[in-house]
Amino acid sequence: MDIYFIRTQKILATTQINLADYVINPYRGCEFGCLYCYSQENKNLQNPKFFNSLGIKINAQEILEHQLYYIKPKRVLLGSTTECFQYKELEYKITEQILLVLNKYKIPYTILTKSYLINKYLLLIKENPENKIYFTFNCASNQIIKLLEEKSPTIEQRLETIENILEKNINLRIHIGPFIPYLDDLNKIFNILPKKIKEVDIELYHHKMGNFQKILQAVYKKIDDDAYFKLIAVYQNPKAYLYFTQNLKEKILELKILNPEINFFYIVPNFDNFYENTINYQQPL
Ligand code: SF4
Repeated sequence: MDIYFIRTQKILATTQINLADYVINPYRGCEFGCLYCYSQENKNLQNPKFFNSLGIKINAQEILEHQLYYIKPKRVLLGSTTECFQYKELEYKITEQILLVLNKYKIPYTILTKSYLINKYLLLIKENPENKIYFTFNCASNQIIKLLEEKSPTIEQRLETIENILEKNINLRIHIGPFIPYLDDLNKIFNILPKKIKEVDIELYHHKMGNFQKILQAVYKKIDDDAYFKLIAVYQNPKAYLYFTQNLKEKILELKILNPEINFFYIVPNFDNFYENTINYQQPL
């Protein structure tokens, strides 16, 4: 992994994602290397080596303080195009510096993560009761994680982290996303999650998210042939996709009946224009 340093002009940016009005990405690139990551295809990031190089925004804290002099965000989203708690964070602590500034100005934030390294930051995050963590738990098998997310945390590390977040009473949503059809079973994923969770979303994978061909290559002959060909069939045309989305919705509704205390959200990207889509993460099922 090549490390380079960025002296950024702007760390707070406006966002279309309906979870906050501003977003911060402390790094450019990501060590976790998920094949479905849409950031690797994002031309705005101007980083063809998204998984092989990591840009460290070394002046993030100073620029954030400066921007907050002029901008008053209602809420900040952390980690829309990078993982805030990747391994180099232990060394450079850019995310930690950002959390300290946001806490100082009492600006609530929502964090997107799948990393167990967030454990070290839970006391900081807990300082503001409005803060929230969206924690990704999109499969139930370490074999699939190894195939699709080479360096990201294991199932056990994620479950332990979820328990810690719950134990600290920090607002939490479990993000089952992207949910890739036939690689894992939704019930299986759901069954290993702690029973105390109160909010779950299921975001269906879209074939323009990350690199679908690489995903198919990675799982070919590693999952059974039936599942492999069914996965391809889901994305063959809008009709097949629609049919799958409706079946999945029925399964989620069954889960909802069995777990009435949990709020469910179901996110289905538009088949034809994924990138033009404004996805609504706040619309309950
Ligand atoms: S952890 Fe997030 S940002 Fe990093 S590669 Fe995976 S999906 Fe992309």
